[in-house]
Amino acid sequence: MSPVKPWPVPDRVPGEDRLYGGGLYVDLVPAATFGINCRKVLTKYQWSRLSRGLKARVDFTCEFCGMPEVPDRNIYHVTHERFSYDEKTGIQRLARFICSCRRCDEFTHFGHALVFGGVPELILGHALVVRMLNPDDTTTMEGLEAEAVAAFEVRKRRQSINWTVDLSILAGTGVPVRAEDLILAAPIESGSVATQ
Ligand SMILES: [Zn+2]
Repeated sequence: MSPVKPWPVPDRVPGEDRLYGGGLYVDLVPAATFGINCRKVLTKYQWSRLSRGLKARVDFTCEFCGMPEVPDRNIYHVTHERFSYDEKTGIQRLARFICSCRRCDEFTHFGHALVFGGVPELILGHALVVRMLNPDDTTTMEGLEAEAVAAFEVRKRRQSINWTVDLSILAGTGVPVRAEDLILAAPIESGSVATQ
């Protein structure tokens, strides 16, 4: 496999807050905005190159657990899009990009992982080990389970909001996109059960 050439992404993408939402936690997207992300406005090739550039800026290392990519074992990371949610204005804004290994990504998208056969104990177990890397973090397995339940409650609350997705930081990555294409209104929720 020969990966695409990375897009030359600046360390500081204008408009990106690389301190936003640090740490590994369950990060659920409302059903109405599921799929409204960078891949919605970029070609597959553009996203592939951009994602690789975003991973290159952290030396292809998971920003949650520190594990490097291992191409010889076909272990490649993903680029997580971390959004902020303003429940008053209904703005779901792409705040930052995070290079994530697939095991950390399973915890981030816990509901989605379970739908696709993820084993809860393994996913939570990995998350617990990652949390233990921080000696100040005293989270227990029960605590992680409670966090997951709380995350689903937050998502449920957000389901009733008519979201507008703001992908404007994409303009600062150097990928040719039109600013006016980066603000997308979500369709009105119609009972979808998507569980990212
Ligand atoms: Zn990881």
